[in-house]
Amino acid sequence: MTTTRPRHHADETADALYQAVVTKPFDTLPRLVLADRLQELGEDERAEFIRVQVELDQNPPCSGSANRRMAANCSDPYCRACMLRDREVQLCHVLESQGVFDAIHSA
Ligand SMILES: [Zn+2]
Repeated sequence: MTTTRPRHHADETADALYQAVVTKPFDTLPRLVLADRLQELGEDERAEFIRVQVELDQNPPCSGSANRRMAANCSDPYCRACMLRDREVQLCHVLESQGVFDAIHSA
């Protein structure tokens, strides 16, 4: 018998913060507070995913792309926008494999 705590366990504080994010999707602060809470709960990837998305929204889009969320034909290996976007995609795959999105949508 395993006593491992579920990775995406219920947390009232995180739920309340998540509701604040849903209510004010363009407000950065609730998203960053939620990220901090998720990190406290050990959900590092989810926390980083939120922070990456916030930074993506705050950074100017890559000049190699008209849309900051689209793949860019960027020749700058140190382009911050492209690094963030790549990291977002990586984290998205990790979270998907952890079933995080299913858990959120069925919550
Ligand atoms: Zn770029």
